[in-house]
Amino acid sequence: MKKGRILTGDRPTGKLHLGHYVGSLENRVRLQDEYDPFIIIADVQALTTNFEKPEALKRDVHQVAEDYLAVGLDPEKATIFVQSLVPEIAELTIFYSMFITVNVLRHNPTIKTEAKQYGYQDMTYGFLGYPVSQAADITFCKANLVPVGADQVPHIEFARKIVRRFNELYKPVLVEPEALVGEVGRLVGTDGNAKMSKSLGNCIYLCDEPKEVEQKICAAITDPARMRRDDLGHPDVCTVYAYHKVFNPGFVEELRPQCETAGIGCVDCKKRLTAEINALLEPMHERRAKYVAKPKLVDEILIAGTERARAAARETMAQVREAMQIDYF
Ligand code: SF4
Repeated sequence: MKKGRILTGDRPTGKLHLGHYVGSLENRVRLQDEYDPFIIIADVQALTTNFEKPEALKRDVHQVAEDYLAVGLDPEKATIFVQSLVPEIAELTIFYSMFITVNVLRHNPTIKTEAKQYGYQDMTYGFLGYPVSQAADITFCKANLVPVGADQVPHIEFARKIVRRFNELYKPVLVEPEALVGEVGRLVGTDGNAKMSKSLGNCIYLCDEPKEVEQKICAAITDPARMRRDDLGHPDVCTVYAYHKVFNPGFVEELRPQCETAGIGCVDCKKRLTAEINALLEPMHERRAKYVAKPKLVDEILIAGTERARAAARETMAQVREAMQIDYF
């Protein structure tokens, strides 16, 4: 007996990296036995900011699906689907749009922050309305849990408000989702930036080969005060130490005094980290190889997952239409 249905996913904007793994993928793999996860590849949401360059989308949808399978998401347990291929989500978005005011969206703090980040003087209708579309993503399959970081809780609160409004206006057919706030870790970039991000070029990708991982860690920023081998180190300002804490936790207690007394050099410290990260990625490479050898298999998994998602969507939409009394015939 599963504990409930989870909705989670990503915007397909390129290869997934260790930041994604630590932030959510690791959790999803763990949760897939206990829960019924619906994992959305949110291509429509990707278009809210990339509508002028849709050509990358096909490749990125495939890439994200391949990354999901490589980390160990099991298509027998997790419903992996493509957002734009479930038209009921767009239909539900339209219905929700009837009772959400423009002012509520304009004052949404996340929208305001992101518009600033993208440098938007004016916002497209699609961008302004993406929280409504997100509420449809969550509710079309009646997900009762959405794993998020603390900063994303307002999104879930907004979806809950939409559900309550709909259920009051028409009939109680929708499920109010709960935020499953976990320890969503944020991983620093190899350049020491607070966030690992493709746009900053500071990522270790899940598909990186051992040699690439070695080169990236070799170039990673360490304690700037440790210029020579016998300089004393300050692990708290070192990117490599931050990675050891996440990927090699059993070593950090020993590493700290060694670094502070120059008992270990940065080269050796980086070698140990490289070995740990490559050991983590190795089974992912093995799983990935199976899908690279049969690229049609990824398509088949997406088609089957999307069909499962559509079946859930059709069921919800029949109830929604009946509740709204637009089930004419
Ligand atoms: S020894 Fe390791 S933790 Fe210390 S500064 Fe060098 S790379 Fe960083």
